[in-house]
Amino acid sequence: MACRMNALKRPVQTLFKTLSLGTLSLGKYRMDAGESSGFTRMFTIKKNGMDFVAQIRVRPGNPAVKLEIFNDSYFDEFEQPEAAVLDGLARKVLAQVSKDNALPEGALSLIQEYLEELDSSEAEVADETYAERDLDAIFARFNNEYFDNRIQAKIMWGRDVKSRNKSGFRYGSYDEGKKLIRIHPRLKQDFVPLSVLELTVYHEMCHQFAPSFKKNGTWQSHHPEFKKKEREYKNFKEARHWEKHNWHRLLLPSSEHAEAVTA
Ligand SMILES: [Zn+2]
Repeated sequence: MACRMNALKRPVQTLFKTLSLGTLSLGKYRMDAGESSGFTRMFTIKKNGMDFVAQIRVRPGNPAVKLEIFNDSYFDEFEQPEAAVLDGLARKVLAQVSKDNALPEGALSLIQEYLEELDSSEAEVADETYAERDLDAIFARFNNEYFDNRIQAKIMWGRDVKSRNKSGFRYGSYDEGKKLIRIHPRLKQDFVPLSVLELTVYHEMCHQFAPSFKKNGTWQSHHPEFKKKEREYKNFKEARHWEKHNWHRLLLPSSEHAEAVTA
């Protein structure tokens, strides 16, 4: 008869995560006798040709794992919200760190648990939120539904600025020469109804459908033919109503809406 060994299960780690500006902290664990006391690693992250300095610290206690990026302009290099950038980075760094022999066992299981959770929750988020805010998908759907697939343009998210807008908010733009539609990245935020993002995409597509023209020396962009087409979008009224009452909320950079995440 084979000898079976019962491995004593460790008490379940309290898995929680907090995010604050440039810092990810992970759970806690207590050190078992004989374990090493943890470690600190500095590293640089390269993005758009620049180096950013970061550090990861693993030690018994609370928080057990702390990942810090020392220069928060790092986050300006991305179109995603800071929390998503930090999660992405944490995944890479933690995968690396979990191969390190100096890593205490308690921290290893905490990190593995975190990475597993990240994998499962990410799949859900990708399905529910981001798929809806997929510009190419919205463009393709509208082109088929409203324009007989005749609109030929590229579409992309514009770049966000970190400061508050002073003059107003520009939802999107259409560059006729480049046939390029740009959508303001603040429309990715959850509090913005999908219909508002959709109307923005639709509006810019209308600009190709009903081009601007010059009349008595001035450019007419939102002329009657344009407006007639624009009102065909099925959630036009609902979206316009929201814009009228909420546009001021879009004057703030996305990051200022982000709250610390505790899970
Ligand atoms: Zn316009």
